Amino acid sequence: METHISDEALKNPAVRRMNEVIKTCVHCGFCLSTCPTYLETGSELDSPRGRIYLMKGVLEGDLALTPTLTGHIDRCLGCQACVTACPSGVQYGTLIDTFRPKLEAEYARTPQDRLTRALLMQVLPYPSRFRLAVTMGKVGKPFARLMPKPMRAMLSLLPEKPLPNGVPLPEVVPAQGMRRARIALLTGCVQSVLDPDINLATIRVLTRNGVEVIVPRGQGCCGALANHVGQQHAARRFARQAIRAFPSDVDAVLTNAAGCGSTLKEYGHLLAGEPDEAAGVAFANRVQDVSQFLAALGLVDPVPALRRSVRVAYHDACHLAHAQGIREEPRALLAGIPNLQLVEIPESEICCGSAGVYNITQPDMARDLLARKVRNVLSTKAEVVAAGNIGCITQMQTGLQASGVRVLHTMQVLDRAYAGTL
Ligand code: SF4
Ligand code: SF4
Repeated sequence: METHISDEALKNPAVRRMNEVIKTCVHCGFCLSTCPTYLETGSELDSPRGRIYLMKGVLEGDLALTPTLTGHIDRCLGCQACVTACPSGVQYGTLIDTFRPKLEAEYARTPQDRLTRALLMQVLPYPSRFRLAVTMGKVGKPFARLMPKPMRAMLSLLPEKPLPNGVPLPEVVPAQGMRRARIALLTGCVQSVLDPDINLATIRVLTRNGVEVIVPRGQGCCGALANHVGQQHAARRFARQAIRAFPSDVDAVLTNAAGCGSTLKEYGHLLAGEPDEAAGVAFANRVQDVSQFLAALGLVDPVPALRRSVRVAYHDACHLAHAQGIREEPRALLAGIPNLQLVEIPESEICCGSAGVYNITQPDMARDLLARKVRNVLSTKAEVVAAGNIGCITQMQTGLQASGVRVLHTMQVLDRAYAGTL
C-alpha cells in the first residue's frame, strides 16, 4: 500500500514503524473472513484492511481522530487473527500496538471513558486492590442495572463463588527427583486473584517433571493491561519492574497466561529507542509459555490413565495461537493423557471476546463474540474446555456456567489428571 506520510512525521520512530507495516499490505482482503469484528458487523471499517486504511489516513493527515474513527479502532480486539491469515506477512499487531498510544495521547475521550480506563489501570494490575474491588463489586452487584455499561460489564464477570484465598507462593520450589531445568515463573496479577490454583497446578506439574521453580518477588504486572489500552508509559514502567525482578541465571522465564506471554515477548518493541532496549530484547528472548517449555522438555512423570474417557475441547487463546504461534504444544500435552479425548472447537481462530480489558471497554461486541464461542463449544459435546489464558477462562466460565461445562487451564487439566480428579 503506497503511503504519503510527511517527512516531518516520519522523523518519529513510531510513525516510521507504522509506515513500514502499512506499506506491506497489498489490500487483498484475505484477512477479512477471520476478523471477529468484521464477521459480526460486516463493515469494512471493522476489518483489518479497513483499520489499516484508517490509521494510514490519520498518519497522512487526511483523517481526524473523530469518535466514529476511534470507535472502529477501539473495536479491534488486538487478537491478531488477521496476522495468521495474511499471506503478505503484515504485522498488524505491531501497527495497532504502536497506533494506540498515539490515539490515547491525541484523542479526547469522554469523561466516562477516561474514568473507566483510569479505574481499570489503578485496580487490575495490583492484586490487593483488585481483590478489594472484587469484594466490593459483589456487594454492589444487585444494583448493577443502575450503573454505567462498563461497570455492569465488570460486575457480570465477577465469579459467583467466593474468591479463593491467595496462598503466598514460596520463592523457590525444588524439582522432584533429578533437576532437569530451573525456571522463573510470572504469576500474573489478575490470575493470582481470580484463580490462584492455576499457578499452584503449574508449579506441581513442573516440579514433578524435574523443574525447579523460582517465583521472583516484586515482579508485578507484566504491562499487558496497560498495553491493551495504549498506556505506553505505564506498560514500560511495568516492563522495567519485571526485568529487574527476574533472575537471568534461569533456563527460561515462564508464563501460564497467553496475554502476559505475548507482551513479555514484545519487551524489545515496547522499549524500542529507550536506553534499556537491549535489556528488553534479552529478557524477551528468555520468555516461553509453560506449554511450549513443557512440550519441548517432555514429561518424565507419566500421566496415569483417566478412570473414564473425558472429552476435552482445546480453546486457542488468541495471544497464544495468533500472537505466539503456539498451537501444537498444548494439544500435544493434552493428547498425551491416556483416556482423554481431545476435540476441536469450530471457528477456533475466532476470539472469545475477552481480549484483555475488551470485555469491559466493549461489552456489546464481547457479549456477541462470547455467545458465538459458547455455541461452538457446546457443539463439541465436550465436558471440559482447556485454555492457556486467564482472560479466556474467566470469559468462557461466564458463558458456560449454565451448561455445566468446566473451563480449566491446560496445566490444571494435567494436574488433575495426575491427581486422578479430572
Ligand atoms: S490479508 Fe494482509 S495484505 Fe491482505 S488486506 Fe489483509 S492485511 Fe492487507
Ligand atoms: S486484531 Fe483481530 S479484531 Fe483487530 S483487525 Fe485483526 S482480526 Fe480484526
